[in-house]
Amino acid sequence: MFNKLLKYIKSVLIDPHCLACGAALEIDEKVICNQCKHTTIADLFASPMLKHKDNIVEQRLMGLALFETAASLMPFEQNTLSQQLIHDLKYNNYKAIGSLLGEAIATQIKQSKKYTQIDYIVPLPLHPKRIAQRGYNQSELIAAEVSRQLNIPLQTTNLYRTRNNESQTQKNAEERKKNVEGLFAQHNPTLFENKTILLIDDVLTTGSTIISCCKALNTSPNIKIHIYTASVADVI
Ligand SMILES: [Zn+2]
Repeated sequence: MFNKLLKYIKSVLIDPHCLACGAALEIDEKVICNQCKHTTIADLFASPMLKHKDNIVEQRLMGLALFETAASLMPFEQNTLSQQLIHDLKYNNYKAIGSLLGEAIATQIKQSKKYTQIDYIVPLPLHPKRIAQRGYNQSELIAAEVSRQLNIPLQTTNLYRTRNNESQTQKNAEERKKNVEGLFAQHNPTLFENKTILLIDDVLTTGSTIISCCKALNTSPNIKIHIYTASVADVI
């Protein structure tokens, strides 16, 4: 823990380097140097495969959740920059990555005709115990930047996680399904009635968590849900 903290202080605060190419960052650069932002990162975030109608995110959720559109910023691949971005955001307290991803999602939403009149930006909630351990909800960091860029309110208090479920990774499909049943609820379903929500998450894997989240959101009459995840993993 202490070593991790020292590593973080050195790499982010004292001696920040570009996560993509390793070059020292200038004062006005955060996470990624300006050159890589226009090359490596532009390529990583550009994949039309993840944005067009019937993309792999929509295919994974189709028939299992009620939603308008679903898209993702980048493919999540082991031992690549995408994994490092998500990992450092989630476990290494590197919060500026949330802004980087949120800004990119907002830009793509502005450029797309699919999104009209979004009322609230809603991050996928973590359980308060998990937030206490980590110090923050990584999806909320991304969502907060989307909210700032689009000038649409961030809503973090209505949708909540009903229990602190353990990791999904060791479970089979049937166990995963059970593990997420009733995992989310709303304090006040009237708040999202007749509203359009943009739901933000960091990684989409099987989609079972997002599906459970959509079920809770759909208790609001006539709600419309758009889903945007920062990354999407291949599911074996
Ligand atoms: Zn660079």
